[in-house]
Formats: sequence, structure tokens, C-alpha cells
Amino acid sequence: MKRKLTANELEGWLDNVRPFARDGKVADYIPVLGRQDPEELAVAIYFMNGEVVHAGQSDTCFTLQSISKVIALALALLDNGEEYVFNRVGMEPSGDPFHSIYRLEQHRPSKPLNPMINAGALVVSHMIHGETPEEKVGRLLSLIHDMTADHSIVYNKEVASSEFETAFLNRALLFYMKQHKVVTGSVEETLDAYTKQCSIEVNVKHLARIGAIFANEGKDLETGRRILPRHLARICKTFMVTCGMYDASGSFAIKVGIPAKSGVSGAVLGSVNGFGGIGVYGPSLDEKGNSVVGLKLLEILSNRYDLSIF
Ligand code: GLU
Repeated sequence: MKRKLTANELEGWLDNVRPFARDGKVADYIPVLGRQDPEELAVAIYFMNGEVVHAGQSDTCFTLQSISKVIALALALLDNGEEYVFNRVGMEPSGDPFHSIYRLEQHRPSKPLNPMINAGALVVSHMIHGETPEEKVGRLLSLIHDMTADHSIVYNKEVASSEFETAFLNRALLFYMKQHKVVTGSVEETLDAYTKQCSIEVNVKHLARIGAIFANEGKDLETGRRILPRHLARICKTFMVTCGMYDASGSFAIKVGIPAKSGVSGAVLGSVNGFGGIGVYGPSLDEKGNSVVGLKLLEILSNRYDLSIF
């Protein structure tokens, strides 16, 4: 059994990786995200025995961005079943940047390759049950409330409208898919639901708890309550392995080797069966869109606990 991890040790790791924040830059294609402090840093680990260790600015809230794609997928699968969902969005990694339109044009019919790239995630948001964008996001928030045991979580209205006003590529993806009947109905409403979903605000402790539920095959570690069916937790973790770290998922699998999903806010969600859930936040991003310090921290953690699943 490995030595117990203390908050002091975790703080020491943060001190070691903090200087690397200067190697990246915060995302500013969503204007409000450009205001994030690149030097902010936080980590939390939720161990399978229920113990939580955290360090850095662990109460700071940030938006989920692409991490929401994993939870939205779980909800769309709960709402519609696997057959319906995977008839409309594929299961294969793309190796392309997250907002690429290229493969939609290349493969006919224009089914997005997977639910972790934007085209696929937009289709997933479209599939979530609800008459209005607010209702869809409300249902996603309820699932997040169950996973985090925190009912105060909401979406950040300023980030949501900042993205909605500037989401030209995501609009283009939706219009393209509407033309090819991959999505129906109002493009603006689907985009509204998606941008609100991406703007849901959490801290690293929330992320770690979500990761722990995935690691516990869908059950709440504290109450034993089943929140997701086991097979859906597995599907989500598998997508995290194959497509979770953008077009760096291959090198991440080699260096760190855990199911993880990152977002352009600089957050990373990790989940390791038998170990627990991990939440990391460091908004300075590398050229692929992954948190520079987040990657370093996860590498240290994976080495320390021999976490690679491979
Ligand atoms: N809301 C962001 C977008 O669609 C999410 C991107 C990300 O975190 O990868 O551009």
C-alpha cells in the first residue's frame, strides 16, 4: 500500500508545476474566458474510501466547458438508450481539433465521429430531453447536483452569453448538420442549450466527486445510491480514454494512462477505478487546448500511484 497523500504533499506538487503555467495561455476565443488568471491552480482527489485531499485554490469556480460533454452524454444515453444515441453519433476518435468540421464533410452520412468533439457534443445536447434549452440544462444540472451532492451549482450566465454570441464555428457545425438532417429544429436553441451546458460552474472538489462516481461504476461513494447504470459509467470512461484529451489523447494515454476529460477553461476531470476521482484546474492551455499544469500534475499523480490502466 502506498503512503497516504497529504494536502502538504499535494501543495508541494503544485509549487513544482506552477512555473509551467507560463508555457501556455488562457483560451480567449470565448471572450469572458480570456479574463481567467493563468497562474491559478487547484487540485482535489476523492479517494474510494471517501477521503478528499485538495490543494491550491480549490474553492475557485470555473466553467466545465468540454467536461460537460461526458455528463451530457450520460444523460442523453439515459434519455434515449444506446441504440438511438449511437445511430446519430459515432464511437471513434478523430485525431482532429475539437471544433473541426472536416470529417463531417468527409464521411457521408454526416454522423459526427464521437460525442467528445463539438459536432458530436452538439448532437448529444440536441438529444437531451426537454422542450426548451432551459429545461434541457435544468435536467443536466439535476444530474450534476446528484453527482456532486451540491444543489447550488448553476451555469454562469455571462460565460454562456459570451460564448453564444461568438460561437460562429459551432453555429456552422449545427447548420451543416441540419442541412444533412443529423439535427432538426432550431439551431439557435440547440446552441443555447450547449453553451449553457458548457458554462456550468464547479470547483475541483466537485470534479473529483464526479470522477469518483464514474470510478465507482455509477454509484455514490457516500450513500451507495446508484446515479448512473454501470454500463453507462463505463461508456463515458471509455470515451474519456479514447477522445477525452482532444487530439492529444494518444500521448496522454502513454504518459498518464487514465480516463480523463479536459475543457478549455483549463479544468481536467479524471476517474480511476479502485483509486477515485480527480479534479484539476489550471487555465493556462497548451496548443491542443489542455491545461499545461494539469497535464504535469496528472503525470506526477499517475507515477506516484501507478495509475495507468494499461
Ligand atoms: N464551449 C466550448 C466550445 O464549444 C467547449 C470547448 C472545449 O472545452 O473544448 O468551444
